[in-house]
Amino acid sequence: MIEFQHVSKIYKGGKIAVDDVNISFDKGEFICFIGTSGSGKTTTMRMLNRMTDPTKGKVLIDGEDIQKTNPVELRRKIGYVIQNIGLMPHMTIRENITLVQKLLKVSQQERDKTAEKMIDLVELPREMLDRYPDELSGGQQQRIGVVRALAANQDIILMDEPFGALDPITRDALQDLVKDLQERLGKTIVFVTHDMDEALKLANRIAIMSEGKVIQFDTPENILRAPANEFVEELIGEDRLLQAKPDITRVEEVMLGNAITITPEKSLQEAIKLMREKRVDTLLVVDNSNVLKGFIDVETLDKMRGKVSSVGDILNPKVFSVKKTALLRDTLQRILKRGLKYVPVVDEQNRIVGILTRASLVDIVYDVIWGEETSITDAIEAVKPIEEGV
Ligand code: ADP
Ligand code: MG
Repeated sequence: MIEFQHVSKIYKGGKIAVDDVNISFDKGEFICFIGTSGSGKTTTMRMLNRMTDPTKGKVLIDGEDIQKTNPVELRRKIGYVIQNIGLMPHMTIRENITLVQKLLKVSQQERDKTAEKMIDLVELPREMLDRYPDELSGGQQQRIGVVRALAANQDIILMDEPFGALDPITRDALQDLVKDLQERLGKTIVFVTHDMDEALKLANRIAIMSEGKVIQFDTPENILRAPANEFVEELIGEDRLLQAKPDITRVEEVMLGNAITITPEKSLQEAIKLMREKRVDTLLVVDNSNVLKGFIDVETLDKMRGKVSSVGDILNPKVFSVKKTALLRDTLQRILKRGLKYVPVVDEQNRIVGILTRASLVDIVYDVIWGEETSITDAIEAVKPIEEGV
């Protein structure tokens, strides 16, 4: 567990770089600090390995005030990756990767093993271990910088805008690499960035900083769902908020409450009356506990009138429904693919709690899915019965 307890950093001359930061996170988390330039991200991070000490407040790692630990020892336990990697030019890649291990007096044999394991992890050829940094491309050097930080068996790794200078494709590949290694090796990563896409992709929690303060500290989902204020909204950007909407919205947040239902023992006459009254061509059939049993439609009703007596006799049990806790993202595609006009929404006990209409979905996501109004109209009009397996 890592804790910032009311931490402030005031530089000589009175500049407040970090202002009462009070957050904590667990080992194994991927934490991103994001904010505009000068918001205090680097200073906050550097207080974790005592490259900077707080003016006020405390930083605790596993309950221990790091102010009381030896900075050199502390830094051996905490990896650090910065933008210009800092591979040693006169050392081979092997020596670079195992630098910290050498300082910790790990045997040559062990170090060789680590070097091989690490170069395999980043999918570079083992021959590269005996080359020098300037024989590698920028992206390859950065990969080495990343695994060097992982090689030393340090649980906590600090990364300060490590990929800022890379081209988008290399950056994307390295983000995948870091995220994958972090998950596989169970590292705690504290990562500074000013790139919201990077933070949303990597972090399991994001600390948003402005003028030295942490404005919001939460999961990417929650930040997208409920930005703390206008500053956060702006930082995320309208496009991203809109795009994220189907990703983070649950069915129950957008469903309508007016499902029109009937019970199986009712007569066909009653069903017809209800359809006319409500101006619908299908009815959902539920039992007395409101559990979804199926549906009936007007065509079948017409055909069977006079031949059978109750709704239960013409009930079609193949009804497609969605759980209220499902993500809209997942549901949307199924509804669109099936061409359904609406689907019933059910709870864990399969009781109807509402319906999701195509029109209401379209309202929410038309910008994202179609982009144009004309095609929405087409989509709404593509009406088919609510039958399973269309
Ligand atoms: P970020 O990493 O978010 O860009 P920093 O943590 O580097 O921000 O800096 C926060 C603020 O503290 C900035 O206004 C910066 O100019 C100031 N600052 C950083 N280091 C020093 C220093 N050594 N002396 C005085 N001011 C500093
Ligand atoms: Mg910085």
